[in-house]
Amino acid sequence: MCVAAFNAAIVPVAREPILIAGGGIGGLCAAIGLQAKGRQVVVLERREELREVGAGLTLFPNALAALDRLGVGAAVRALSVPVGDGGVRSPSGRWLLRQSADRVTASLGEPVVCVHRAELLSVLAKAADRSDVRLGAEVAAYRQDDRGVTVETSDGETLEGGALVGADGVHSVVARTMHPGMSSAYTGCTAWRAITDLPSSLASGHLGFETWGVGGAFGIVPVGEQRVYWFATANRPEAERAVGREYDEVLRRFGAWHEPIGAVLEATDPTGIIRQDMYDRAPLSSWTAGRVCVLGDAAHPMRPNLGQGACQAIEDSVALSDCVGTFDNVIDALRAYEQRRRRSANRVAALSRSAGRVVQLRRPLACHIRNTALRMIPSSLLISRIRSIAASPEV
Ligand SMILES: Cc1cc2nc3c(=O)[nH]c(=O)nc-3n(C[C@H](O)[C@H](O)[C@H](O)COP(=O)(O)OP(=O)(O)OC[C@H]3O[C@@H](n4cnc5c(N)ncnc54)[C@H](O)[C@@H]3O)c2cc1C
Repeated sequence: MCVAAFNAAIVPVAREPILIAGGGIGGLCAAIGLQAKGRQVVVLERREELREVGAGLTLFPNALAALDRLGVGAAVRALSVPVGDGGVRSPSGRWLLRQSADRVTASLGEPVVCVHRAELLSVLAKAADRSDVRLGAEVAAYRQDDRGVTVETSDGETLEGGALVGADGVHSVVARTMHPGMSSAYTGCTAWRAITDLPSSLASGHLGFETWGVGGAFGIVPVGEQRVYWFATANRPEAERAVGREYDEVLRRFGAWHEPIGAVLEATDPTGIIRQDMYDRAPLSSWTAGRVCVLGDAAHPMRPNLGQGACQAIEDSVALSDCVGTFDNVIDALRAYEQRRRRSANRVAALSRSAGRVVQLRRPLACHIRNTALRMIPSSLLISRIRSIAASPEV
């Protein structure tokens, strides 16, 4: 046997780089974690810039603890605002359920916080500085053999690596290739979001609440002293867009609800509103196939009603990095990652789905029953449910 042929036969399993499809919260956190384990990482992001929508994001202590493990917890906390007392109200303003921030904090280990998504992404992008982040690189397909993974981008580029992490969101190409029958389903619910700078007459301190109506909801969370993040949801057909401005549509639907909703909408820049339809899908039967795995929304799309989608993506990325750092063989590492995360993330996704259905109930009688039941829920029960999902692992 010639030496070259012999060498080819015993070439060690290709280890580097690890390719990541998607430079969102999940993909960048995975890059930070993997580079800290000494791995070479290439992030392929289809957008031309690393960008997040102009909205807020609540982060629970489970996510903050995971961000600590990635070394960025302090930087993210420095940008964020603790979520204060709050609860759920009816459109008339009546409180259906109240929650004390101090009790939530005592139960979860630290305060729940809200951060501007774009600011979070810039902290993550900065921390991922040892990774090779390629923008305008859309993953179109991949194949693998026993030596590595080959990824093709939409503009015909080919990249090779030792493994591929699909962090490419709810409509993931990587998940769809792994599970050819997979499809994401529209939840029947659309969401509008914006960040609003408040006039001096309105202080953000006491503005945290969610208001549930019939087939729609409106929520406000402070993201600064004079700045709030608000979101509104409604049961609408897929891909529907307002005939005029989305702002007018939101105003029409929610402007007459209790104050300060009208005042916050009044202060909102009509051009700064984002509308996004929400998708879900049945749990995947597996998250890994050989050298390929999925994480974040690609693995477990999550309705936003428990504020856990990004939190779980961050937890996934820490588990993945731990497993890659522990196992010599990347295939074993990906399997261990799935073992560690799939069940618990799917549980949170299922709970989020149920919560979403309750919030979006469309029949007035069902909403009346829901609201009556809500008033009877002991706050201790609610807190123990939140704790089972979102506590810091230290409590
Ligand atoms: C209205 C709303 C409110 C929410 N509120 C919260 C909250 O308060 N707290 C919380 O924890 N979660 C919340 N979520 C959920 C959270 O936004 C998501 O779970 C989180 O963004 C998932 O991150 P990800 O990185 O997995 O996916 P994404 O954020 O979807 O990122 C995927 C990235 O991959 C890129 N990409 C896609 N396809 C390709 C491809 N083929 N090739 C290369 N790149 C590709 C995309 O451009 C994107 O940058 C909310 C969601 C919604 C809709």
